[in-house]
Amino acid sequence: MFYRIFPIRPEAHVFQVQCRIEHPNAGGQRVSLPAWIPGSYMIRDFSKNILELSAISEGRSLCVKRIDKSTWEIEECAGPIDLTYEVYAWDLSVRSAHLDSTHAYFNGTSVFLKVEGQEFEPCTVDITPPDGEAYDDWRVATTLGRVDAELYGFGLYSAFDYDDLIDHPVEMANFSLATFDVAGVPHDIVLSGRHDADMDRLCSDLKPICEQHVAMFGELPAMERYLFMTMVVGDGYGGLEHRSSTSLMCSRSDLPVKNQQEVSEGYQQYLGLCSHEYFHTWNVKRIKPLAYLPYDLSTEAYTRQLWAFEGITSYYDDLGLVRSGRIEPQRYLNALAKTITRVLRGRGRFKQSVADSSFDAWTKFYRQDENAPNAIVSYYTKGSLIALALDLTIREFTKGECSLDDVMRRLWCDYGKPLVGVPEGRIEVIASEIAQRDLSHFFDAYLYGHEDPDLEKMLKNVGVLWRLRAAESASDKGGKVLDKMDADLAMRADLGIKTVQDNGNVKLANVFDEGAAQLAGLSAGDVLVAINGLKVTVSNFEPMLSRFAVGANIEIYAFRRDELMSFDVVLKSAPLDTCDLILDAQASAVVLAARNAWLECNNH
Ligand code: ZN
Repeated sequence: MFYRIFPIRPEAHVFQVQCRIEHPNAGGQRVSLPAWIPGSYMIRDFSKNILELSAISEGRSLCVKRIDKSTWEIEECAGPIDLTYEVYAWDLSVRSAHLDSTHAYFNGTSVFLKVEGQEFEPCTVDITPPDGEAYDDWRVATTLGRVDAELYGFGLYSAFDYDDLIDHPVEMANFSLATFDVAGVPHDIVLSGRHDADMDRLCSDLKPICEQHVAMFGELPAMERYLFMTMVVGDGYGGLEHRSSTSLMCSRSDLPVKNQQEVSEGYQQYLGLCSHEYFHTWNVKRIKPLAYLPYDLSTEAYTRQLWAFEGITSYYDDLGLVRSGRIEPQRYLNALAKTITRVLRGRGRFKQSVADSSFDAWTKFYRQDENAPNAIVSYYTKGSLIALALDLTIREFTKGECSLDDVMRRLWCDYGKPLVGVPEGRIEVIASEIAQRDLSHFFDAYLYGHEDPDLEKMLKNVGVLWRLRAAESASDKGGKVLDKMDADLAMRADLGIKTVQDNGNVKLANVFDEGAAQLAGLSAGDVLVAINGLKVTVSNFEPMLSRFAVGANIEIYAFRRDELMSFDVVLKSAPLDTCDLILDAQASAVVLAARNAWLECNNH
């Protein structure tokens, strides 16, 4: 299969793609575009951006007919067929395609039509620069195989088959580039967009993180090179994993400038994101649910295992930062406490299990509305806490002989390396084998049920103290190091809401189940106007509320659409849903050894 992709009109965000089918299906060749991209479980119907598809064979125009929203059928023809179409590319995300005069980015799922029946044929792609001198300094970043192209150059690239073709996103731009080595394999960092980042610093921080994951699994999967591709923007965040690369988006201010010593919160988040996507190189790109082998990209693919593929990956992403010495143990605990806080604040975890959250990702997790905190649980956050609980449980049961690391290595050897799909429930069996105990009650309670693991007790065993308190303010996300627990915070009056600024007004984004606001009839979308006759503003809302005692009766005026309504609210006490974690200074030598083994602190 031969494709040529050409940014024909960058200013109009249009790629031209050509596809040559040498031996079309005799009964009429069908071509289609995926409805979703692996790693992002939402139907996106990329075909909506295909414009002007035409087919010719030896100078003769062929009739092309739509079969369904993503499929075309070309009239019977002996071949070869030359297809030409345009793709509108103006989605600045890691999931789709984006093109203007500053750069071109695409995922194969957005631009390469699948030739049905020939998806296992090798593919060649001619990646062509836009016309004009303005683009003379553009280069190409991708992990597609090079056939006739210099490193980072335009020209011919290859893929083993269609599945491989769509798993190597491509960036064309005058980007920044730096390279480091992990396990003898070059790892490239490519930054597009305006930035002032210290590329050497990125290399010196990413290298030990990558090496730590390679050491944990025992080897890097076979690949020629790995690519961290980042689009730098004013304000953005996101990442998508691929078999030998990742597409990332981050905020300019998150990246370190020259001579910046400390790891800022934003930079820690960026390193955590890189760590997360790199871990996926094993966990989900090679260790895959059976339901994804092969992917059916025309319709939803269901699995209850995303807690393992996203939750375990989320557990190891920040753990990789402390294990590689990028952040101190207390800094790791602060991040963990924030995750715990996010989970504790979601009452949806009492209604939806993590296994069901995975299964329903298509309609719930990826389509969140104002009721999401009350209705769903995240297989990322609660999944990562199940992974933590599982790790600490295995360590406890095996007296430190084994850990979740052993489960991951076993999954890599039995499923990832030979590329065999992991059947539903299999990870639980492997975990029980490694723990040398039947863990079905563990999974029934935390994964299939609605219970929270007893992390307070489990963390105590590894020398970490757990504190639960009320939030100090709306911006308090937990993970603070406090000298003592402040009892007054527990008595703060609370409405049970999350607000957003809306044209200078205080608008309710979420109204939590059984909170004071919900009991009084306030709803998400309501715009607050006054409390007890005094005007509510963005700046005075929290201070105003803090003056009331728990149990106080207040009258809130709010607009619902254009109708002014009043609500009698009885304030409740703020829930104890904010977690802090602290290194236990009194921990015994045995406990300290367990903590060091968990965080691998003795290595540095
Ligand atoms: Zn992920």
